This record gives sequence, structure tokens and C-alpha cells, in this order.
Amino acid sequence: MDYEPVIGLEIHVELSTRSKMFCGCRVEFGGEPNTRTCPVCLAHPGALPVMNRQAIRYLGRIALALDCRIPERSIFHRKNYFYPDLPKGYQISQYDQPFAVEGGLSVNVDGETATVGIERVHMEEDTAKNIHAGVSGRIAGSLYSLIDFNRSGTPLVEIVTKPHIHSPQAARSFLNRLKNTLQFLDVSDCNMEEGSLRCDANVSVRTVGDQELGVKTELKNMNSFRYIEKGLSQEIERQINMLENGERIVQQTVHFDVVTGEISPLRSKEEAHDYRYFPEPDLVPLVAAADFIAEIRGEMPELPADRARRYVSEHGLPEYDARVLTSDRELSDYYEESVSLYGDAKTVSNWIMGELLAYLNNAGVTAGECRVTPTALVELLGMVKSGDISANIGKEVFTGMCETGESATAIVQRKGLTQISDTDELESLIKQVIEENPSQVEQYRAGKEKVIGFFVGQVMKRTGGRANPQVVNRLLKERLAE
Ligand code: ADP
Ligand code: MG
Ligand code: ZN
Repeated sequence: MDYEPVIGLEIHVELSTRSKMFCGCRVEFGGEPNTRTCPVCLAHPGALPVMNRQAIRYLGRIALALDCRIPERSIFHRKNYFYPDLPKGYQISQYDQPFAVEGGLSVNVDGETATVGIERVHMEEDTAKNIHAGVSGRIAGSLYSLIDFNRSGTPLVEIVTKPHIHSPQAARSFLNRLKNTLQFLDVSDCNMEEGSLRCDANVSVRTVGDQELGVKTELKNMNSFRYIEKGLSQEIERQINMLENGERIVQQTVHFDVVTGEISPLRSKEEAHDYRYFPEPDLVPLVAAADFIAEIRGEMPELPADRARRYVSEHGLPEYDARVLTSDRELSDYYEESVSLYGDAKTVSNWIMGELLAYLNNAGVTAGECRVTPTALVELLGMVKSGDISANIGKEVFTGMCETGESATAIVQRKGLTQISDTDELESLIKQVIEENPSQVEQYRAGKEKVIGFFVGQVMKRTGGRANPQVVNRLLKERLAE
């Protein structure tokens, strides 16, 4: 039988506002535990929450970027459960009247564009952080747990997709696209290692052509897109095997061990949720008035797709370049700054897509972290353009710049890499090369013009690649024609 995977994602995004969702405590990752707290985010009895307006603006940006409908009124609910990182006994969240609904985000999968529906986008607060003492960092096997309230009350946006994703690869593409969009929106640092972006993946399988959804399982709190893709593949395989063996899938959370690559089901009873949602009596309804939404629309930053279109129409770049350059916020900013300094967009794009990206991928750093700033790159491009150094030497110099952080001028001077265009100096070398290789001279004169490459190579070798190839070519042709 042929099976089709069905995947729906729930993504949590910590907003990068200055203060928390319902109090004035600062939002920042790490730091001395329990130093950014107050009676509200420590859940002291009687403390009252007040909504953070900036967080709602960021939420609005996300909803608009995801093409959602924003009902005029949404409300907060209390989601009750008992957990040490939630001493109120409930999390303030949204339930049946969320901030935004019915959106979509288009994603490129295998060269085809498909829109993944967005079910809802809602506002909630993050919990405190449990730190389980022990080797694995997981609760099982730990000796004791500590609680850090610095994270408690951080504005958290939940984005829920419709079950519109049909492969682990497509799930990863969607997440990349979503992360990139959030970065362009300037609403979150999206740092997955620090937990600013987290994802739960729901997955079921069904026989192809079936209209009904199968029973789903959930991979929780995955913090790397690569692991989500791997975990989903494993889980899909496990579900198909079970169905093939006539077994029934149980709705439950499963754990994907990134080290062993194995899926282990958690007992489903532990997962039986009854949150007893009820309206939060301490907060007024959230009214998304038309002028407030218009204001947010007015301050929306340019999104990747718009930037890409501009690179094609205004900078004259091929669509492929535009897509690659806008696949990452920092890369796109790097490109824009370089173009504004240098002008020639295609040359800048070639160096970024070739040399810079190769280095970044290799070194595992981002464009913003790279030691070669746009200003430093543009200095190098100027030296290549003026003929001070050849393009090939330029590439070598670029690698040096990345490794040492030195300027192009400094490296060229230190290594003596200036291009030799001086005809007198080259003439004598060419004379030598011609004298030392009579048989190649004969071949050339007998009509085998390709042999010119051999002579150019010899001159290059003797100058450590510094000879100006155009000049060498011209001089060689003159001498050989004699
Ligand atoms: P829950 O109440 O268990 O959280 P929801 O209906 O809220 O379930 O859906 C959560 C996520 O799971 C959504 O992204 C949704 O698209 C996805 N989902 C729901 N049912 C299925 C299914 N049968 N197979 C795969 N994904 C599903
Ligand atoms: Mg859920
Ligand atoms: Zn506080």
C-alpha cells in the first residue's frame, strides 16, 4: 500500500521585546538566575498582569506577514495545569478567540511552490525554566531540579499550521521560510539553541487517496530543523510499519533521541490533557482596532519575497541570485550594504554567493559574524577592478581576510601579491619561457594554438600567479608570431 504522511506544526516564538508580556521585567536570555523577576512573573497571589503593547504590535506583524485574518476582538484564557515552572497553576494564553486566524505561507518544495495554511496565531506567556541536574539534562535520572524565573512571562507567540505538509523535507522548508520571515520582521532573534524558536511536530499517515486523517503522534520541543526532519522520517516509518503489521496507532507524544536516532513512545496516559480553559478575568479583551492594525501595516519591514523582487527589478540580478541572497536576513543585509558601497550589484552578488557563502558554510558562521565586513569586501573588489591584483589572487586574499581579519591591502602588501602588469618585467620572463621550451614553440607555430595556455601557465608559475593574464597573453602572441 502507498502511504501519505500528514504533518502539522506548532511553533513557539519568543518575542524580542524589551520587557515581559505582563510586567516590566527585562527580557534577555541567560544571566544570573532569578534576577529579572517581580511579583507578577513570580506568580505572587494578587499580582495583576498588564498587557505589553509592543508585544501585540509584533504579534500583529507576524499575523499580517502570514496573511491572516485578524478578528476585531480576541480574549485571553487561563490554561490550567500543574508544573513547577508555572507556579500560578495556569498559563495565560488564548483559546477559542485567538488574535489571528486563516492565514498561509508559501513554500518552495522541490522547485514547486505550495501554500501551507495557518490555522491560528495567538499570544501567550513563556514559563520559567526547569534545570534538571544530571548528565542528560532530562528529568529522568536527574537528582534534583532548579527553577530559573528569568524566562517566566516572556512574550510567546504560537503559530499553528493546518495539516498541509506532506513530507519531512517540506516541513523543514516551511520552518526555514518561517524563521527567515520572522527574522525580516525583527520580532525575534529566532535563536533555536537558546529556545527562542521551538517546534512541536504532529504527524500521521494515511493511505493515498484517503480523505480522513489518521491518528497523530507528536514530537515535542524539537530545537533543530535538521532533527525535526530526521525525527519525522523515523516516526513516519514507525507508523507505516505498525499499520502494515495490523497494529493501531495510539495518539501520544513520542521522543526522538537525536543520538541514537530512535523513537520512543511516552505513555499516552501521561499525556491526557484537560486544561479547563476559562477566560482570564484579570485582563480586558484585546481589541484590534482598524487604525491600530493600519499602523502596524505601515511599519511592516520589507519581507524576503519583496526584497528578492527588488533585487531583480532594480539591481538587475537573476532570480536565482535574488532567492539565495534573501534566504537569510544577515546575508541580505550584507549584500545591500556592499551594493550601496560598491554599486555593481552582479559583481557583489558573485562574490557573496561564491566566496563568502563557501566560507560561511565551511566555518559555520553567519554573515553578520564574519570578520570581513561589507566595507572590507568592497575594498578588495576595488583592488581587483583596478587591476592591482588578479581575480584569482583576490579569492586567495579573501580567504586570508576571513581567517585573520586583516584588510585586503595589508594582506596584499605583506605577501607581495600585487599583479605584475609591467611589460618590461614580463617580457624577460616570456623570453626565458620561450627559449626553454622549443618543442612547444614549434607546435604553436605549426598551428596548435592551444599551446598558448601552456606558456601562460609557465609565466604564472614563475610569478606565483601574479602576472596579469591579459598582458601575458598579448606579449606571448607577439613573441611567438616573430
Ligand atoms: P491538539 O489539540 O492535539 O494540540 P490540534 O487540533 O490543536 O491538536 O492540532 C495541533 C497540530 O496538529 C496542528 O498543526 C494540526 O494541523 C496538526 N494535526 C491535527 N490533526 C492531525 C493529524 N491527524 N495528522 C497530522 N497532523 C495533525
Ligand atoms: Mg497541541
Ligand atoms: Zn516580572
